[in-house]
Amino acid sequence: MKLKDLESILQDVATFENPKVELEQYPTRPHIAARVLYTAETSFEDIEGKVVADFGCGTGVLSIGCSMLGASHVIGLDIDDDALTIARENANEYEDDLPIDFLKCNVKDVAKFHPKLRVNTVIMNPPFGTRDKHADVEFLNVAFSISNSAVYSLHKRSTRGYLEKLALRDARVGEAQVLAELRYDVHAMYKFHKKASKDIEVDLWRFSIVES
Ligand code: SAH
Repeated sequence: MKLKDLESILQDVATFENPKVELEQYPTRPHIAARVLYTAETSFEDIEGKVVADFGCGTGVLSIGCSMLGASHVIGLDIDDDALTIARENANEYEDDLPIDFLKCNVKDVAKFHPKLRVNTVIMNPPFGTRDKHADVEFLNVAFSISNSAVYSLHKRSTRGYLEKLALRDARVGEAQVLAELRYDVHAMYKFHKKASKDIEVDLWRFSIVES
């Protein structure tokens, strides 16, 4: 599938109806989602035929994109029932039965409720930790423990140095690379946003996982 075809499919994925600021619900725009997934597949072969988890899947844009690129099974986890309802509706829009399970779960509780969950690849656009401090790092920690191959994650540029050190210290991580510097356009979704659109600088990371 070509990049522009993937992007155009992802444009039809409905986003949050009433986004919840306390859960940091910011959808990944289709052009970013498509580029992240396309890079994971074409540069690293981390999607097709792989079992993928999407942490904080929201309304499912990354999960659906992974299944379009041939993932064998996708598990989308989110804490919010409203987001999951939209995600399931989004997936049902496609003629083919997509191999995605959307599950309600606090990502921080994966080890407790899904102790046997193991995947090849984790893809995530996690909460950046502005409301729930360190949520992004907690998500990464869980991702490193269930993946046997690669973790892709979006993080604020300002945390780059911190994440580099964190990855260096973590025996589960082989290489930690910033694959792209993105400008993430946050449209005025919440009342406290004064401007119609605000760019925040975001890094796309790939962490390779050392098999234990
Ligand atoms: N991945 C989606 C949504 C990103 S917004 C996309 O790319 O469009 C972050 C998502 O994380 C939201 O859907 C929010 O409900 C979810 N979330 C926040 N805290 C969570 C937690 N502790 N466990 C699981 N999901 C969480």
